[in-house]
Amino acid sequence: MTAQTVQQGDLVTVIGLEVHVQLETDTKIFCGCSTEATDEPNENVCPICLGLPGALPVLNEGAVEAAVKIGKAIDADIPEETRFHRKNYYYPDLPKNFQITQYDEPICQEGGLEISVEGDRRTVTIERAHLEEDPGSLQHVGGGGGIDSAEYTLVDYNRAGTPLMEIVTAPDFRSPDEVRAFLSELEEVLEYLGVFEAERDGSLRIDANLSIIPAEEIESDDVTEIGPDALAAANRTEVKNISSHKGAQKALAYEETRQKNAIQRGRAVEQETRHWDESRGITVSMRSKEEEKDYRYFEEADLPPLRVSGWKEEIAIPELPTARRERFEEEYGLSDEAASKLTSTKQVADFYEDVAGEYDPDLAATWVADNLLGELNYRDMEITDIEGRLEEVTRLVELVAEDEITAKNARETVLRGMLDDGKEPDEIVEAEGLGKTGEDEVQQAVTEAVEENPEAVADYESGDDGAINFLVGQVMQKTGGSADPGDVNQLLRAELEE
Ligand code: ADP
Ligand code: ZN
Ligand code: MG
Repeated sequence: MTAQTVQQGDLVTVIGLEVHVQLETDTKIFCGCSTEATDEPNENVCPICLGLPGALPVLNEGAVEAAVKIGKAIDADIPEETRFHRKNYYYPDLPKNFQITQYDEPICQEGGLEISVEGDRRTVTIERAHLEEDPGSLQHVGGGGGIDSAEYTLVDYNRAGTPLMEIVTAPDFRSPDEVRAFLSELEEVLEYLGVFEAERDGSLRIDANLSIIPAEEIESDDVTEIGPDALAAANRTEVKNISSHKGAQKALAYEETRQKNAIQRGRAVEQETRHWDESRGITVSMRSKEEEKDYRYFEEADLPPLRVSGWKEEIAIPELPTARRERFEEEYGLSDEAASKLTSTKQVADFYEDVAGEYDPDLAATWVADNLLGELNYRDMEITDIEGRLEEVTRLVELVAEDEITAKNARETVLRGMLDDGKEPDEIVEAEGLGKTGEDEVQQAVTEAVEENPEAVADYESGDDGAINFLVGQVMQKTGGSADPGDVNQLLRAELEE
């Protein structure tokens, strides 16, 4: 990270994340049950994911492959051999009363991810990333509807056994904004890898640890370098139940203010686990923070050690967003800003490359980054919402590239009509008569305009160059706005020179 100086009296915010990512596999991590979303509770279950006595887990190769891809993408060490452990605790969503997870030998160790904050690029250290199983889900019914106020609670084991990757960062963040930048970068990478489905509810769940450290205790004048003693001595809270980038930013901003207020009033911050209440926009105390020894970790004897050496080398990953952005700048001569926009999601980048392959890369960039994304954004839509209609957008770019309609009409009438009314580009061009007027017709209109407006012509001839604009306006009116104003200007000047 880049240096950020601390002043005496400052309170420094320190944040570290534990991100749970649901891996997109067809079946669960230790059994053959489907991971497909279903409305019927307890439909995708079997003796293994229900934790019935005697049922034995079998590791899903697809989940390990996804974990290796993530490891390569974050530049982590992937050891030759890795192991599974049991994390023991009692809770109704956990039928075995232990979760199979990884402990001291996770599949990914010591990696990092580059993020961009206010134009600065910096790397966040990822301490580890490990495979584990998701617990089931609870539904609190009646009463206040909350965990402590419902009349009763229903248990659904459809989710139990869904493969998860838990990604743990170092306490490298100094603001909620940095966290948000990291989460969107991470999500983008996971989507590029094809190991994760962002739209799925609960596919990304975040536990965020936050502490406030007084500048005096940092023993460095750079806030990005806080020693291990100062980190360990700080009381931190772990905020659970965060499920989006925006949620993370809001929950952490709230928690940052809450802790700073406590410190400024001379009160101690409790080391505890807190719950993010999305609807109220606050964090509430859940319990004192559990410690590692509470979980009685021991090795999962039903699964042999996992050896990935010899196989992991064969697992390829695609070009990732950062590399793609750099290539876009180089190959298509795009600005950093345009290249960043165009690689914001894989679908956008793929579409841009399709269009740039056929037409001018600059024209393609204007159309995809500015016009298409701009109009989609205005309607709160994403490129995925028009997935089946991208060919129509390409056709629209073709109409512009071949000079059949003006760029202005293309965006303001055709593209907007496509998005708002679901019509096809040619249909709109036809219905609205947008096809550029033929040259003869424009010439005709120019001649007429000159004949009908002797005063403007006289003004122009006496040196008032602005009078030409009036004449251009007249021609545009005559041609119903479908002539190119630049062409009209030239034709007028030619006519007046005669
Ligand atoms: P534990 O397992 O006891 O919760 P870990 O060392 O595994 O502790 O760290 C868990 C998370 O807490 C990590 O994401 C780490 O970055 C973060 N963390 C550690 N120290 C601090 C701190 N002082 N302030 C904020 N987050 C921290
Ligand atoms: Zn099962
Ligand atoms: Mg931990």
